[in-house]
Amino acid sequence: MPRVSIVVPCYNEEKAIKIFYNEITKIEKAMPSFAFEFIFIDDGSKDSTLEIMKELHKADSRVKYISFSRNFGKESAIYAGLLHSDGDYTALMDVDLQDPPSLLPEMMKYIVEDGYDSVATRRVDRKGEPVIRSFFARRFYHLINKISDIKLVDGARDYRLMNRRFVDAVLSLSEYNRFSKGLFEWVGFNTKWIEFENVKRSAGETKWSFWKLCMYSLEGIIAFSTLPLYLSSLFGAIMCFVSFIFIIFTIIRQIFFGGSAPGWPSMVCIITLIGGIIMLCIGVLGMYLSKMYLEIKRRPLYISKEECLSNERPDRTNNEKNE
Ligand code: UDP
Ligand code: MG
Repeated sequence: MPRVSIVVPCYNEEKAIKIFYNEITKIEKAMPSFAFEFIFIDDGSKDSTLEIMKELHKADSRVKYISFSRNFGKESAIYAGLLHSDGDYTALMDVDLQDPPSLLPEMMKYIVEDGYDSVATRRVDRKGEPVIRSFFARRFYHLINKISDIKLVDGARDYRLMNRRFVDAVLSLSEYNRFSKGLFEWVGFNTKWIEFENVKRSAGETKWSFWKLCMYSLEGIIAFSTLPLYLSSLFGAIMCFVSFIFIIFTIIRQIFFGGSAPGWPSMVCIITLIGGIIMLCIGVLGMYLSKMYLEIKRRPLYISKEECLSNERPDRTNNEKNE
């Protein structure tokens, strides 16, 4: 019987987790030809998320969990879940039912019958989301698609069903600064996109503040585009050229018309402008450098405080990445 691993990152989700379990087990019953396992990742929750996971495990041995020693972020939780999933197929979904489990049978059909390697989802609308958040999200997709080689779909969710080779390919990318939406595109293979209407959270609150989303977008741009680096150099070069012209202009003016006092204000303006641009370029360089710094350190993506998993994947453990 083909096995399906359901990977679910959870951070302070005590209200949502049982609702999710009830829902997913309904779907699982509608798919009797597959053997399911559920891998919950407690991303350093401060509420009783882990206790509920333990409770679920007691009642249903197919429920497995990993608990992080602190909040490492959703990307690390996704990585840990994929690393420990050993099903023939792996589905990644949020615990708040915003990724409807009811789509799973249809998604499975595309992989099993039509031979796709992964089935990805996108929401067609952003109903219920703050207008400003939607606006910036759209701008982000527009920008990243312009400046990087990979193409991201607007409204793409992390909700995805993948076959084994797709999961293994994603795991083979061992980078520290992970941006899953980009990694899923980068590995290639055949992906089927399906659409659904935005669903409201089942319980609890979103864990993404506007600021956190901005930083996540920046992460995506830096991880998948080096254009800002080139742009900053180009910007610097243009400014050097402009100031060179200005110097020649000032010398000529000095020789033929004399008197430097009238040039003072513009001079100050230009010095500050150039200073600003240099700072900007150094800043861009610094962003890339800081990412490289973290990559070189090869820190593990997460530290597990406790876990209950039947399968070990000694060939590719998280801590091996540290060596
Ligand atoms: N999540 C996580 N770690 C975090 C933030 C979020 O594991 O640091 C999980 C969260 O529990 C949920 C999923 O990621 O299952 C999506 O989070 P959320 O619903 O808050 O995001 P939104 O749907 O609002 O974008
Ligand atoms: Mg959500």
